[in-house]
Amino acid sequence: MKIILASSNKGKLAEFKELLKGYEIFLASDFVDNFEPIENGNSFKQNAKIKAKALLDSLENKDDYAVLADDSGLCVEILDNAPGIYSARYADDLEGEFNSLDARNRQKLKNELKAKGVDASKAAFICVLCLIYKDKMIFAKGVCEGSVICEELGENGFGYDSMFIPDGYSKSFAMIENKNQISHRKLALDELLKQIN
Ligand code: IMP
Repeated sequence: MKIILASSNKGKLAEFKELLKGYEIFLASDFVDNFEPIENGNSFKQNAKIKAKALLDSLENKDDYAVLADDSGLCVEILDNAPGIYSARYADDLEGEFNSLDARNRQKLKNELKAKGVDASKAAFICVLCLIYKDKMIFAKGVCEGSVICEELGENGFGYDSMFIPDGYSKSFAMIENKNQISHRKLALDELLKQIN
């Protein structure tokens, strides 16, 4: 089965390739120009569905592919679960020069934690998947609990990985080798595969 991810996030693609060995996986940008659906849902589930349907609608040979959307983000307890569904665009209002959108988002998260006077908080990564294949639409959710810290540890991964320490570990997602065995994405995928089988 060929799978197209309803995303242009190369970090997600790398993880899905690792998680779904044996499948051919593509990014939406391999098939569609400027894939930027308007994620105006108010939950991870709604946004996952919006992305999956937007990609499906723009494909020509729909039956040849499974479409997989991942809507995910980081919910930080002391910040009333922000950035949540806005994780990718969290720092749109933050001025300054940054190497990447991810670096800008991490700086905003550090600023917000400092403004609360803390250098850590409980947090959870959440991932909701929406798979559309041959007229079927299936959802699955995964949650990885842990803490965010007000500094960056490690170089690997993407997004907020270097600021997130999963429960039971003393290293960040950007440092541990087994992120793909314990992550929100892996847990959601396990749940999805359970439903398919
Ligand atoms: P989405 O592409 O709209 O689902 O936004 C996901 C955003 O959440 C990413 O851009 C990251 O900022 C963050 N995120 C989701 N999953 C992860 C992860 O596994 N590690 C680090 N950041 C993540």
